[in-house]
Amino acid sequence: MDQSSGHRKIALEEHFMMPEFVDYWSRTAINISPGLFGKVRNTLEDFGELRLTGMERNNIEKAVLSLAGPGVQAETNTATAVKMAKICNEYLAEQISTQPGRYAGFAHLALQDPLAAADELERCVKQLGFCGAMINGQTNGAYLDDDRFSIVWERASDLDVPIYIHPNNPADVPYMYNNHPELFGPVWSWTVETGNHALRILFSGVFDRYPKAKLILGHMGETLPYQLWRFDSRWLISNRGDMTLDMKPSDYFKRNIYATTAGVCSDEPLRCAMDAMGPDRVMFSVDYPFEKIDEAGGWIDSAKLTEEERTMVCYQNAKTLLRL
Ligand code: MN
Repeated sequence: MDQSSGHRKIALEEHFMMPEFVDYWSRTAINISPGLFGKVRNTLEDFGELRLTGMERNNIEKAVLSLAGPGVQAETNTATAVKMAKICNEYLAEQISTQPGRYAGFAHLALQDPLAAADELERCVKQLGFCGAMINGQTNGAYLDDDRFSIVWERASDLDVPIYIHPNNPADVPYMYNNHPELFGPVWSWTVETGNHALRILFSGVFDRYPKAKLILGHMGETLPYQLWRFDSRWLISNRGDMTLDMKPSDYFKRNIYATTAGVCSDEPLRCAMDAMGPDRVMFSVDYPFEKIDEAGGWIDSAKLTEEERTMVCYQNAKTLLRL
């Protein structure tokens, strides 16, 4: 660790790949430049020198690993999805066991079968020591506000582990992206899709039914922290007159929702997320290997924060939430 510099860190949107899942992952190739795709595969599949030296250079003591999406959420056969999710989690557990001090894991779940997904989450947490689950957006067009997924929220709440919603494409391509492929993907549509997913969950009352539920969003909260006042003000006059919530929309961001810095290395949205949600709800992440680990590490080390805030964002908030 003598090469390392900067604040000690935990990072929690850090991806891997295994050969059996490359076909699912290849479907996201429509969103990114063809050159990038081949280049990152080696980095994704590495659990050794490449990953560990980058972590050491940036004093990232622990990386919580997750499969690069969409994984089995793109699988049309439910039985195959359930089987493949287990294969993924077993493989991840095996990799973590080679570096137990440095790696932790988020479970990969086949939401096509909600009960199986809940059971697999419990198995991953209790038997494999995972920290929660990462869900790659919609599954066959269904979002986590759907009643069928209540069992997953219930189980996650009982286990007291977070669900991290990672971007994926919507089930169809809305006309608003017509003739603008650059907007369909990480530049913009993933933010819209993932922010919308979180709001569906909030406004459907999932957090009233499961007050202990914990939801993590990457990308500094997918722009939602910027909008909290407007959510509070406008939902009261929305066209859902029948809708009731126990609290103001913004209150759920302070009780149930967390954000990571994954894929956003910029002071202004960091300040906004911390002020809007609370300094205890924002956590450093890289989005490795899609984001440069040295850029993310160097940025947070010199971001305009008090040293107390930097400790919280870099390390303490994740340690507390994930019980690392
Ligand atoms: Mn990511």
